[in-house]
Amino acid sequence: MYFFQDRYVPKEEIAVSPDDRGYYFGDGIYEVFRVYGGKVLEGKAHFQRFQRSADGVRIQLPYSAEELNSIVHKLIDVNQIADGIVYMQVTRGAAPRAHAFPKQSEPILLAYTSEMERPLDTMRKGISAVTLEDTRWLHCDLKTLNLLANVIAKQHALDQGAGDVIFHRSGTVTESSSSNFMMVKQGELYTHPANNLVLHGITRSVVLRLAKQLHIPVHEQPFTLEQLQLADEAFLTSTTSEIMPVVQIDGRAVGDGIPGPVSRKLQAAFEQEISELT
Ligand code: PLP
Repeated sequence: MYFFQDRYVPKEEIAVSPDDRGYYFGDGIYEVFRVYGGKVLEGKAHFQRFQRSADGVRIQLPYSAEELNSIVHKLIDVNQIADGIVYMQVTRGAAPRAHAFPKQSEPILLAYTSEMERPLDTMRKGISAVTLEDTRWLHCDLKTLNLLANVIAKQHALDQGAGDVIFHRSGTVTESSSSNFMMVKQGELYTHPANNLVLHGITRSVVLRLAKQLHIPVHEQPFTLEQLQLADEAFLTSTTSEIMPVVQIDGRAVGDGIPGPVSRKLQAAFEQEISELT
């Protein structure tokens, strides 16, 4: 069952207008919620970010936070999702194509669930990545449907046999195509500050909280590709990839070329966090 424009409906019954501004302009925002054992991890933070993205692009959310929360839980229940995701997006609505906001249009909500296994094997082995100039706009903190640069970047990585990209702006590392990025040097954790150049990842904040609890010094400060070359460990963080070690960058091993001790410690703490979900 999907949720589309005020109704719970089977996917086959959904008819999206060709005039939907999401289709013409990518004029919308989205969230991805992670479900473990039927429970939502960090639901409140995801709803807050959804509202922040909506405010950032001046879309009026068609439902209150409580209503959105009940849509998420109802979909998990009716679709009997144990491990998976809930995808939710709002577009500015349907109107004849014109750049200016339409005078009359109703924002349209789409939400659905998808079963998804945790990437346990890949998290044990790690992935390779390639660096790429970050050519996105300057509102990467908003989770909008405009993902073309991210899509092209991901394909660029796959075409080179890598798992993902590490974006940089003129040599300063920002994040990955659909994850935040962190490096470890001499037991200390570094990641780009949560400003307009990166998404304020929910997993990023969980990992930073866990790092502090584990007495791992945390530096939310920009670092360069040259500094990254000297990293002992590196990993991506995201709702679906969790804590994903990056063991090779541009063909060179990161540290020993295997997931390092700080990454594994954080993975174990994250695992604990999941097991304590109520
Ligand atoms: N950065 C980008 C560009 C993303 O698309 C995502 C997730 O989709 C993230 C970071 C990670 O955010 P979160 O941990 O909230 O999933």
